[in-house]
Amino acid sequence: MRKKVIAGNWKMNMLPNETIEYIEKLSKLVKDTKNEVILCVPYTDLFYALLTAQNTNIKIGAQNMHFEEKGAYTGEISPQMLKSINVEYVIIGHSERRQYYNETDETVNKKLKSAHKVGLKPIVCVGETLEQREEGKTSDVITKQTALALEGLNEKEVEETIIAYEPIWAIGTGKTATSEDANESIKEIRKEIARKYGQQTAERVIIQYGGSVKSKNAKELFSMSDIDGGLVGGASLDAEEFSKIVNFDK
Ligand code: PEP
Repeated sequence: MRKKVIAGNWKMNMLPNETIEYIEKLSKLVKDTKNEVILCVPYTDLFYALLTAQNTNIKIGAQNMHFEEKGAYTGEISPQMLKSINVEYVIIGHSERRQYYNETDETVNKKLKSAHKVGLKPIVCVGETLEQREEGKTSDVITKQTALALEGLNEKEVEETIIAYEPIWAIGTGKTATSEDANESIKEIRKEIARKYGQQTAERVIIQYGGSVKSKNAKELFSMSDIDGGLVGGASLDAEEFSKIVNFDK
């Protein structure tokens, strides 16, 4: 049985003192959960987050990285740099990065390969725009994005990749996909993985839903057959609200 994985994406929010305070509070509120809890924080908070999360069940991730190991890439952070300070997870190909920073399916694929090379666990985001949804292209878009992201990975690497299905029109808008729609899209993604990597691998891959998840809708979404938890933006900025999402099954 797949476990539920709930990851917070703080985006460009929170200073180190707020990070310490937040994690001290959250760790008490989620200490009894069986679900996996991850916080993906800004680079400048990583060190503080890792220290504060020591001896808790909270795992720490970054929100992006370069695909190269090192070199003349001013302002960038490499997979090795993240790994060297014991970061465990990294979000790759978030729609905001695809939209504002020219991330492409090709760079997403390169980043996935480099993350696995150093043992970082990637959370790769896929999702359709409103226009694509209205044109009936959701399934095509998300299966293609998934196939291109995973291209060239072996079965073990695919199993160790978390996929976040995030319909772009639902991110930060307060609009949520219905639990049935989200489940159907995630089933499509799983089918695509099964087609390329076999049923067993597909059954093992964690596929989250993301897009305006809150404590009020988490239980309905995360109780669906194929939704293995969520990637949570806005609602992860408040420790109490995020803890209710993590504890959706309590
Ligand atoms: C996200 O940033 O991945 C996200 C899903 O944001 P929100 O929960 O705010 O819609």
